[in-house]
Amino acid sequence: MDKVKAFVFVDALGWRQIERYGFLEDILPHRRKIEMQFGYSCTAIPTILSGKRPSEHGHLSFYDYAPEKSPFKKMKLLAPFLRPASFWRRGRVRHQLSKLIKRIYGFTGYFQLYAVPLERLPLLDYCEKRDLFVPGGLAPVENLADVWTRQGKRFHISNWRLKEEDNFRIARDLLRNGALDRAFIYFAAFDALQHDNVGRDEILAPRMAEYAGTIRSLYFALKESGREFELTVFSDHGMTPLRGTLDAPAALEASGLVWGEDYASAIDSTMARFWWLKPGAKERVEAAFAKFSGRWLTREEMEYHGIWRDDKKFGDAIFLADPGIQFCPSDMGVKPLNGMHGFDPADEDSFASWLSTEPVPDTVRRVADYFSEMTR
Ligand SMILES: [Zn+2]
Repeated sequence: MDKVKAFVFVDALGWRQIERYGFLEDILPHRRKIEMQFGYSCTAIPTILSGKRPSEHGHLSFYDYAPEKSPFKKMKLLAPFLRPASFWRRGRVRHQLSKLIKRIYGFTGYFQLYAVPLERLPLLDYCEKRDLFVPGGLAPVENLADVWTRQGKRFHISNWRLKEEDNFRIARDLLRNGALDRAFIYFAAFDALQHDNVGRDEILAPRMAEYAGTIRSLYFALKESGREFELTVFSDHGMTPLRGTLDAPAALEASGLVWGEDYASAIDSTMARFWWLKPGAKERVEAAFAKFSGRWLTREEMEYHGIWRDDKKFGDAIFLADPGIQFCPSDMGVKPLNGMHGFDPADEDSFASWLSTEPVPDTVRRVADYFSEMTR
């Protein structure tokens, strides 16, 4: 009979955290420090679920400048109603509006407006319109559900809309009953906890102990099933403490350039991506950013990280902030977070982790390598 393989994905369980707090050394003795996929969770998740990189699956950041492809074109008609701007910037208003847009457009994926200026929306495309976890969720790229279905496995993949406790309980019971060949269990809440509390041992140590207890009970459920099994815990990235902020909107405003005429941008927490619309804009933005702690990515780096695309979907240029330095305000928020990820993958705080009952195959070095192991 086929071995049962259970994979537990704990968002933001970085190598640093594993080293600092220790984590299940006894039951998961085989462990490796893993290079994260450049980007955010919205980049890592499709990478984990497909083994492909952003250049192929097309997910780097939620919003891209794409006037032709924007699903929000009709929202231009709403422009007269988007006054006063301060009202539409309120968190609660945006949260409700996000829910409404998601419903109207029939998006099944995770959708949030964050702090994206509403008047720009008709020129932007959003990458996660579909639920990535279900069969066909990344089509035309095959995802985990597609492959496990094709392989004829009895499998369970967590529903990200449910609470962690519920996802855990469902998977544990199925595994204990021997009802599964494969399981992908997703714990998302540790990421938010770390964004708020990175470095606070008094908060993180007990929470890590709780996760360890939960995963240990999963291990015992697998034992009880009487079947041969492998249990692996992995993450997508670590968490870097806040060290400073960069005010991109102020620098861009001072440059005299006009968004949508001279250039377009998508400002994330750790990177600013640009599309050059008029000659000379590039040089002026570079001058405006010269004082910022960070650097423009080279084409070689983008190729190495799997984020280079000939169609420039992800921008003509990307400015990456130095580790710990957050763009604030950005299109993602108006306040800096205590911790952030999405910096240089080579930074020590960025590394992810792979912990297993089985020896780590030599081929598992980067987040994109998980998929072949899960589908082998
Ligand atoms: Zn996060």
